[in-house]
Amino acid sequence: MIEYRIQPHSPEAHLYRVELLIPEPAPEGQLVSMAAWIPGSYMIRDFARNLVALTARSGDRIVPVTKLDKQTWRCDPVAGPLQIVYEVYAWDLSVRAAHLDTSHAYFNGTSVFLRVHGQEEMPCGVELMAPQGPEYAAWRVATTLPNDGASPFGFGRYCAGDYDELIDHPVEMGNFTWATFTAAGISHDVVITGRHRADTDRLCRDLASICEQHIALFGELPVQRYLFLVMALGEGYGGLEHRSSTSLICKRDDLPQPGETKVSTGYRRFLGLCSHEYFHLWNVKRIRPRVFMERGLEAEVHTRLLWAFEGITSYYDELALVRSGCIDAKSYLELLAQAITRLMRGSGRHKQSLSDASFDAWTRFYKQDENAPNAIVSYYTKGALVALALDLTIRQRTEAGKSLDDLMRALWRTHGKPGRGVEEDGVERLAAEVSGLDLTDFFERSLRATGDLPLGELLAAFGVELRMRPARNAADQGGAGESAGGAAVPVPVLGARFASSGREVLLTQVLDGGAAREAGLAAGDVVVAVDGIRARPDNLERLIAGIPSGESVDLYAFRRDELMRFRVQPTPAPSDTCDLRLLDDVAEDVLGRRNAWLNL
Ligand code: ZN
Repeated sequence: MIEYRIQPHSPEAHLYRVELLIPEPAPEGQLVSMAAWIPGSYMIRDFARNLVALTARSGDRIVPVTKLDKQTWRCDPVAGPLQIVYEVYAWDLSVRAAHLDTSHAYFNGTSVFLRVHGQEEMPCGVELMAPQGPEYAAWRVATTLPNDGASPFGFGRYCAGDYDELIDHPVEMGNFTWATFTAAGISHDVVITGRHRADTDRLCRDLASICEQHIALFGELPVQRYLFLVMALGEGYGGLEHRSSTSLICKRDDLPQPGETKVSTGYRRFLGLCSHEYFHLWNVKRIRPRVFMERGLEAEVHTRLLWAFEGITSYYDELALVRSGCIDAKSYLELLAQAITRLMRGSGRHKQSLSDASFDAWTRFYKQDENAPNAIVSYYTKGALVALALDLTIRQRTEAGKSLDDLMRALWRTHGKPGRGVEEDGVERLAAEVSGLDLTDFFERSLRATGDLPLGELLAAFGVELRMRPARNAADQGGAGESAGGAAVPVPVLGARFASSGREVLLTQVLDGGAAREAGLAAGDVVVAVDGIRARPDNLERLIAGIPSGESVDLYAFRRDELMRFRVQPTPAPSDTCDLRLLDDVAEDVLGRRNAWLNL
């Protein structure tokens, strides 16, 4: 058994100390390495760069170590057990890496545990040690690492069946809030770190109904327990899935407040995030692309399937909210309309196919620059809408006999449960098999072409009206308002997105086909005046909207430190904003279809 001992050694200096004991190192010299990326977040992060000092010993003897590349070390051959000691700098308050200060400690195994080459299948022992000092005496531990002697929520001995498992159970240590509920008879813990006043009873009730919804879809829950690790902050959002837990970051205001009964926009977003990561415990943690099972974490692993793993998951995360009764149908349609709006606002959707977006996630989606809306499409957003289109297509064409739910169950049965990886064309093949439909054309158009999806037509068959209209202002994200039918008059716009930088207007994105692009403005320009009036973050939209149609005006902006004049002719806001409306008067069969889809 390989032994790891880890301690938040120096919270003030953000350092973990790790001791690794390898009882039988490779006779020709043991190789060890740190992961370059963490599963679920498709970007090279080079965790080895946080490794501070590494030494090796065998008994009393110091063992020479040679660094072979950015993340791999070779220890000289030794006769007995090999001990490697190192420190890891941890100052990344995200769900993807490791963090440590005097208030709490959090780590992912990928950030702290070296992989012992050739011994990845060996079971691992993990000793979690408390930081030293009376101020840490009340710290507890939250993790789904299997317990091997530690008391519940205590420091001490844990274990993992192999390296893969070792790095798939994040660990939180500190003074946290703990709440618990059961779903399908399995205990689910919610641990919240950070200052907050959340109504955890309500949170547990809502989470239980969402979890039950997902469990009912797949027919079983393949874990012994589940843990939601939540970090509550003033600002922040993110989540990462693991086999029996998830790490989440949210705004503390998004958590339900005592006395509140309505589902706020923030709380809906948080429930959606929990729902998303929970769905992943089947879809991507167990139903996995075959390439992920064959390749390691030292370099990029490309797959064209992220649309299915992130897109289908994004579809079900919100769908489960309405199906479980946490939100109503109108609230769900608002979320759907906002997703359609996000997709329609990027011309990149006509340049990058969903399949390519999946493949290039590493260098495009995860490394977005100011040109992203003009160049790429999100495999989350478009992936979710393709999942919707696929679900509605199957439901309609099989006369409600089959649905995407059947495809997910088939993926679970044939891939997830037996641990068989999904081939690059596996989802498409299984979808055709399960539905009995020829979906060749559907997938060709949805995944490998760049045209728009026929969502209006599909939704109409389910008693939902889709209307595209111009945005009323920059804050307008589309929705499910009463005014869904009414046409808004398009206001003149600049065709750019901006942020306030103090009292100045900073252009962040210049969109293809817009007035700003036409005039030669660029991302990074600071707009100072429009038509002789000083521009500010709170009046720029108004200044542009007030320019009569067809008229050009002078716009002054700083590019770096040079003042430049641009001749701008604002154009009418494009119809890129979606409204969805539940139709009242629909035929019996349409109503039946809609109720089955949304579980109404
Ligand atoms: Zn995801």
